[in-house]
Amino acid sequence: MGRSKRRCGAPKMTSSVLHHRAQNIIGRCREMARITDVPGETTRLFLSAATRDVHTLLLQWMRDAGLEGRVDDAGNVRGVRLGADGSAARVVLFSHIDTVPNAGAFDGPLGVVLALEAMALLAEEVLPFAIEVIAFSEEEGIRFGFPFFGSMAVTGQVVPATLERRDSQGLSVAEALYGFGLRPQNIAHSCALAQPEIFAALEVHIEQGPVLETEDLRLGVVEAIVGQSRFELTFTGQANHAGTTPMRLRHDALAAAAQWVTEVERYAMNYQQLVATVGQLEVSPGAVNVVPGSVRATLDVRHPKDESRHAAVANLLTKAELAAAQRGVRVSARATSKQAAVSMDRELTVALQHAASRAGYETHAMFSGAGHDAMILAPHVPTTMLFVRSPGGLSHHPDETVRVDDIEAALGTVIEFLRGLKPPDR
Ligand SMILES: [Zn+2]
Repeated sequence: MGRSKRRCGAPKMTSSVLHHRAQNIIGRCREMARITDVPGETTRLFLSAATRDVHTLLLQWMRDAGLEGRVDDAGNVRGVRLGADGSAARVVLFSHIDTVPNAGAFDGPLGVVLALEAMALLAEEVLPFAIEVIAFSEEEGIRFGFPFFGSMAVTGQVVPATLERRDSQGLSVAEALYGFGLRPQNIAHSCALAQPEIFAALEVHIEQGPVLETEDLRLGVVEAIVGQSRFELTFTGQANHAGTTPMRLRHDALAAAAQWVTEVERYAMNYQQLVATVGQLEVSPGAVNVVPGSVRATLDVRHPKDESRHAAVANLLTKAELAAAQRGVRVSARATSKQAAVSMDRELTVALQHAASRAGYETHAMFSGAGHDAMILAPHVPTTMLFVRSPGGLSHHPDETVRVDDIEAALGTVIEFLRGLKPPDR
């Protein structure tokens, strides 16, 4: 038995009710997964035909859970349950409903469907705040090559340049929004989060990694979403004849890059919480009988602490220079993107841990190595995040799955979290 086994007597809601609801959550995620733009797989891009069908389904589920639903002008589906005595204080439960191509059923939809199931379970309970469930329209960034559109819209971060981005068909975000029946000029108005009324926001998401499975725990409480730095490096040597150029007289750009790649791996392996990846190498001229003249390489570095990430990046770039210098190769580096680490709200994160413990579950405090809508919301409203174990650590894949007992644990935790929340005195 795992350490995350249910403790006796703790849950107020009977296990069989939660178990049945957990099965329903899984069934609904699988039902959503069948709504796809590409038959035979789950591919649901921003503002697609399948997305419209998912909107219809979600609005129905929101009604069933006693929520008044609407679609805002960024294509987010939102449902509100009013607070007792007309309380303006508000809690937000959220995740996203777009997918990567050939996706699984749970990355995104789980957080939305689970929130609605929690609403249905709490239908008869009086809570001193309103609850809004938000299904963000666009998190993966596949269609327009730009992630987090939905959560950026609700936090006032959609700028004209964002609306002008085009998909592979040449259609702009603004044109796609119009085509869907939405009004991009109204985004600021119709999407804005109810601030300062929102005092807590929670995203439930699959872990998408192997940590919880390794720890033999069902749930993880996310303390921070790691920052990341991306670079493009160019190693420039001298292309030359593979037969006539003696080894000692070569300036082999690929040999320099290759040495550096293994140094990146070794360095990250010995640096706590650091991950560093060289994911692309492009060798030129790339012929069997030519000494490589130049190599383009990418570098992706992530760490929960920004200072540590900066130090690691500086070190890895120096290693590239040293590997190059040994062979008379030049190297240049260009930063292509960077994202600061985002901490989750400390108080809420502790509240989430306590909620899990009241529900009878132990949690693992951890970092998220992937980006999530939670990191877009966190600078604007107090936000926290609950991870559910990913069997096999698998995601962005049709075999992505969850265990019903883990979903039951997540649902029980969310119920306890909501029951334990108290709106601040104003
Ligand atoms: Zn996701």
